[in-house]
Amino acid sequence: MRDHKPATLCVHAPDAPGGFEALSSPIHRASTVVFDTPTAFKNRASKVYDGYSYGLYGTPSTRALEDQIAQLEGGSRALVLPSGLAAIAVATIASVQSGDTILLPEGFYGPARTLIESLLSRFGINALRYHGDGLRELSDGAGPAHRLLWVESPGSTTFEVRDVDKMANAARARGMRVAMDNTWATPLGFQPLRHGVDMSMQSLSKYASGHSDVLMGSLAFADESLYRRTKDVARLLGYGVSGEDCFLVSRGLATMPLRLERSVATAAVLMDQLAASAEVTQILHPSRTEHPGHEIFVRDYATGAGIFGVVLRADLGSGSKIDTAFEALELFKIGASWGGAHSLIAPSDPKVGRGDLDWLPDGPYLRIAVGLEDPEDLAADLFRFLDALT
Ligand SMILES: *Cc1c(COP(=O)(O)O)cnc(C)c1O
Repeated sequence: MRDHKPATLCVHAPDAPGGFEALSSPIHRASTVVFDTPTAFKNRASKVYDGYSYGLYGTPSTRALEDQIAQLEGGSRALVLPSGLAAIAVATIASVQSGDTILLPEGFYGPARTLIESLLSRFGINALRYHGDGLRELSDGAGPAHRLLWVESPGSTTFEVRDVDKMANAARARGMRVAMDNTWATPLGFQPLRHGVDMSMQSLSKYASGHSDVLMGSLAFADESLYRRTKDVARLLGYGVSGEDCFLVSRGLATMPLRLERSVATAAVLMDQLAASAEVTQILHPSRTEHPGHEIFVRDYATGAGIFGVVLRADLGSGSKIDTAFEALELFKIGASWGGAHSLIAPSDPKVGRGDLDWLPDGPYLRIAVGLEDPEDLAADLFRFLDALT
């Protein structure tokens, strides 16, 4: 660099030395992307899907993570977004217009249900909730205005597993697009794009990032033009993610298979012990033979997740007793989400607002997300809770 004055030298750092090869992914931060010539600058819109035009639309950090996710999902393209909910919003908005109807499951992720039923309804978009696998709703009167089918398998609160091929076939036969929330099983357990789904969504805030410190979501595609149209929506809504967050997710992915395996194995031990205890009426997890969709789970899924539901005996249902029992827990923290190193427990009431849970016994319901602590310590903690109940 020429003999410039200090203020200029403060602004123009020397070029980074080349030849640095590391195993970790570099973190790129940028708003402005610069171009060699005015012509390249004028043509920058051509770099929106590949290459770089503006920090919001992609950096080497986001592109690298998107490529990795596309590969894991068995797709050709992926998009990363600021949260799982943002991914659901973008996939939905990219698929419908005023007058269209979206089919969504009764147990759909709560905030996404509110987005579709409350916010998007203001723009003339209709929501139709289906029961079970939705095949009845898909054959009854599904017409041209039925545009998008959302699939969640397993369901986020009660973990029913669906026959995704069958649902996707029925929807596609009617010209509908199919999107699936694949957060629970991760692409290690299930690859929606190989089962007729057009857009596979994940919350990377769970197992992928794995340490309860990142919010991010992704969409994966097998179809280039669908990817581009969806990317346009994400871009116009101003959604981008930071290089640091991409770094954390990419670092998390490296250990995800091991963490998932451990969480699933510990959950299996805990479920067996809880199932044998007198306070527990039912365990909800697709690996249990009595669980709705168990055969489909065995047929279609390579692995599950270490998250399950527990129904307690109905006579243990008085609120204050349970609240006191939570105080006996030393390791399980009360909180939403899952997929981190820490085990979590959360009371919930899955029957509120749902008409499809006749099979679920009455009684207090807990959702348990198993982390990476020692299984014996976790079991002891849960039994302290059960003892405190009785
Ligand atoms: C957590 C979660 C989401 C939302 O993800 P965020 O990253 O928290 O926005 C969506 N669907 C399911 C099934 C989830 O568990």
